[in-house]
Amino acid sequence: HVEYDPVIVEVNNMKLQFAKQLFINGNFVNSESGNTMECINPANESVICSIQCASEADVDHAVKAASRAFEGEWSEMSPRDRGAIMYKIADLLDENREELATLESIDSGAVYTLALKTHIGMSIDVWRYFAGWADKIHGQTVPISHARPNRNLTFTKKEPIGVCGIITPWNYPLMMLSWKMAACLAAGNTVVMKPTELSPLTALKFAELSVKAGFPAGVINILPGLGIETGRAIAEHPDIRKVGFTGSTATGHTIMKASSESNLKKVSLELGGKSPLVIFDDCDLEKSVRMSMGGVFFNKGENCIAAGRVFVESSIHDQFVERVVEEVKKIKIGNPLDRDTHHGPQNHKAHLNKLINYCKKAKDEGAVLKIGGKRLDQPGYYFEPTVFTDVEDHMFIAQEEAFGPIMAISKFSSSNLDAVIKRANSTEYGLSSGIFTKDIGKALRFAEKIDAGTVFINTYNKTDVAAPFGGFKRSGFGKDLGEEALNEYLKIKCITVEY
Ligand code: NAD
Repeated sequence: HVEYDPVIVEVNNMKLQFAKQLFINGNFVNSESGNTMECINPANESVICSIQCASEADVDHAVKAASRAFEGEWSEMSPRDRGAIMYKIADLLDENREELATLESIDSGAVYTLALKTHIGMSIDVWRYFAGWADKIHGQTVPISHARPNRNLTFTKKEPIGVCGIITPWNYPLMMLSWKMAACLAAGNTVVMKPTELSPLTALKFAELSVKAGFPAGVINILPGLGIETGRAIAEHPDIRKVGFTGSTATGHTIMKASSESNLKKVSLELGGKSPLVIFDDCDLEKSVRMSMGGVFFNKGENCIAAGRVFVESSIHDQFVERVVEEVKKIKIGNPLDRDTHHGPQNHKAHLNKLINYCKKAKDEGAVLKIGGKRLDQPGYYFEPTVFTDVEDHMFIAQEEAFGPIMAISKFSSSNLDAVIKRANSTEYGLSSGIFTKDIGKALRFAEKIDAGTVFINTYNKTDVAAPFGGFKRSGFGKDLGEEALNEYLKIKCITVEY
């Protein structure tokens, strides 16, 4: 064990302080391997700091601490008291909202105003939402068919699973941590969490606040590190009973395999997407333009439910494209900390390069570039908001997730709803979808036939703490948010009494 050894960074006259060590059993400790990694500010490519990387041995220490907390203090605490600590962390996040939003912004490139409202704002909401659930988890009585009912009582109990692993990506660092961890803890589990190596700083600040909130030692363990080392150790650990994962489909496969080859731990996977947005000519055109812009460019396209394909009915196609291009020209790209910036840098350099190649491939395949398509000629990982038209279903740009600010527009020319739904379903993903039309019957038929976990009708991006969120097909399985998320972190025991 070592003394808490914080990093202090000054940004816009604000002093940001956070740990650079691992958080295990209520203490900040150094990694056994001594390995460190650099955190880069994507707005100027400078090094913010170096932090510790957790090794396999560190994961093991954390699992032991989490097991002790699960067998002891956390399970013995009343659900109401557990909920009270969760409300307290929400209050602390709220009190530190500006500092957290600044930290998230320099670490991930998120625009400050969005980080404040969404990255941090929704994190606070989700802690409050699940704090309220902590003392409302219950089973049910079950009428049984094979025996005399008045001589038998069958009932279920929902119980926590034990030590859970949580592994998250870089697009909404604190929010992804919060979506999963709040449900996990409300259900009565303890946690070993690995934030992304690409934007881990708000998770470390969260660790510090969790001590102030009063979580007993070992309930929350936060271990930054690389996917192939720390993530793999969590996925393979025999005493971790569940892994909640958000990230790419490729890593989702690896996590499933690790579960299968270790202890068959329960897994929930929130993976990639290529979500279709279908715009009919009877829609409110201005609203559909506004919502499509948000659907694609929100959080610089680093949004899992980003509308990766926009299908526009041919009668309004040209007008739609013209309006979108006009709006794209108004997007202010710049320093994410400036209050009037709309669009900040992409999260990291490899991602920027991926987007550059993605656009090249789209052009090579015949998609037509209307605007954008290149990085800004300045330091920082800035990539222009981009619009392609003439996208055909077989093209790379129609099938592969960009996870960046790239709108891929296709035309559909008949009013045959089933034909466009078939096209909308023609990727291996099934995360989200949207439709714009005044014909509510058409919209509901779309909702019925589309193979996606979320459907937005005449709106987009309306994610809510109470609304279950998660995908189908290779977008994964299991839900975050809402009551369904709790069930991901509970096991059901069935008890029968004969009397
Ligand atoms: P990623 O899969 O590369 O990494 C996600 C996390 O997994 C990171 O913490 C990483 O360190 C870890 N990891 C990597 N290899 C691992 C391994 N072998 N074992 C265990 N852990 C490992 O994904 P990313 O690039 O960070 O995030 C982008 C992806 O996340 C996109 O595909 C996006 O669509 C998806 N995403 C999905 C949702 C959703 O809710 N469906 C939300 C946000 C992001």
